[in-house]
Amino acid sequence: MEPRKENIVMFPFMAQGHIIPFLTLAIEIEQKRGCTITFVSTPLNIKRIKSSLPPNSSIQLLEIPFRSSDHGLPPDCESTHDLPYHLILKLVEASRSLKPSFHKLVYDLVRKQHGRLPLCIISDIFFGWCADISHEFGVFHAIFLPSCAFSSACYYSIGMSLPHRNNESKEFVLADFPQASRIHVTQMSENLQGADGKESLSQTLRKLVQDCMSIDGALVNSMAELDEAGLTFFQKTFGKPFWPIGPVLLPPGTGSRAGNEAAVTAAKVCRNWLDTKPPNSVLYVSFGSQNTVSASQMMHLALALEASGKNFIWVVRPPTGFDINSEFNGKECLPEGFEDRNKASRRGLLVHQWAPQMEILSHKSTSAFLSHCGWNSVLEALSYGVPIIGWPMAAEQFYNVKLLEEEIGVCLEVARGRISEVKSEDIVAKIDLVMNDSEKGKEMRKKACEVRNIINNSIADKEVFKGVSARAMDDFLNAAMLMREQAKRIPGN
Ligand code: UDP
Repeated sequence: MEPRKENIVMFPFMAQGHIIPFLTLAIEIEQKRGCTITFVSTPLNIKRIKSSLPPNSSIQLLEIPFRSSDHGLPPDCESTHDLPYHLILKLVEASRSLKPSFHKLVYDLVRKQHGRLPLCIISDIFFGWCADISHEFGVFHAIFLPSCAFSSACYYSIGMSLPHRNNESKEFVLADFPQASRIHVTQMSENLQGADGKESLSQTLRKLVQDCMSIDGALVNSMAELDEAGLTFFQKTFGKPFWPIGPVLLPPGTGSRAGNEAAVTAAKVCRNWLDTKPPNSVLYVSFGSQNTVSASQMMHLALALEASGKNFIWVVRPPTGFDINSEFNGKECLPEGFEDRNKASRRGLLVHQWAPQMEILSHKSTSAFLSHCGWNSVLEALSYGVPIIGWPMAAEQFYNVKLLEEEIGVCLEVARGRISEVKSEDIVAKIDLVMNDSEKGKEMRKKACEVRNIINNSIADKEVFKGVSARAMDDFLNAAMLMREQAKRIPGN
């Protein structure tokens, strides 16, 4: 009889930017490490996840009950994707109510397995409270950081020493993470800029950090060679190992909307369009799954794309003030005849709502990515050696750009935030610098290719050569195994 496989329980926060990397990690652990995975989320998210699992996956999906309307949220809103930006913090706060249900879920799981414990529980950084539950059962607990440690360290340090808004020079150095050099107030999310250390955001942040104090370690979706300062910072702060196991990436053609009819059509349209373009000639523009620009920024961006003379694919979403998921043709925020003109000349392709990002980034015609610099988008671009024109919007995106531009040299910031004024000529200048044969552009492309090689080396998992990320994953699994062995030796277990 085959020995029973180890089971790992995974529990992400309810946001695409968290669920996607968790699911990708789950698939990777299942396929490469031969463990079984129990993936926990709220009912509507489980429904969505079900349709995006690869056909050969045996990941077990478990629902945890959650009713958004019980928490002052609109009904049936179980993901940041369903919510306007100002309600996202409320969803984070509401997710604390999942604690008793998660306890019961683990209890039932162990009972169903006749007392056999899972090897570990990997929860979201927002669910650090899972550590107490894990330890009650004698199970190893790790959080998974879908972002890099550098940006998380900036965010952590800012959140722990609010307020910063009284700083007259508008710039400050982070007391506990000076490696990030100077931070400008515009590099703080709008909600952090207004936070005084006492209101609900500050309190929630402190609570989240406090919850994480008893974790046994953390998996980080980044690479040791690129993220050393942040990793060292967290290992010292928490006194626990932080294993860089990244990048955790889905192969092109898979993902949350892989089976969705609209997504299949969009993928075909993009592929056919890209196939007609010369190598390294297309700018891909996207602001991720939950960010969008203002109507005026949208107009300037459109003008810039036309004026640049470059081929482009632009994922167009309704601007701020509109429902980001609504049907929207954007005509009133675009120069007259913009879409028709670009369709006729075949110079620009507008994708409404959702594009097959990995397929676009992996295509030989793609040259650069104008991105909000969400970490998944960053890793996806760099794993194909695509340099980035950064337009961070929120949260840790500002520090991702900082790391990418100041430390790694693969990014050029073009604008900041959803309300700043942008001028089309400034955008054109940055596009030119990155895509034309300027010294800067050449240097960025060279660096992006070096990073692609670092990524490929770090995930190599062969007997002859094991990359640092693959070794970090070994270390994590060994630590979990060790805790279980020790728990078994305690009388009564
Ligand atoms: N994504 C996509 N098509 C889109 C927009 C986003 O495939 O039109 C995917 C993208 O490839 C990435 C994720 O959604 O995997 C977005 O995550 P990221 O961390 O970049 O940004 P977020 O959406 O969390 O702000």
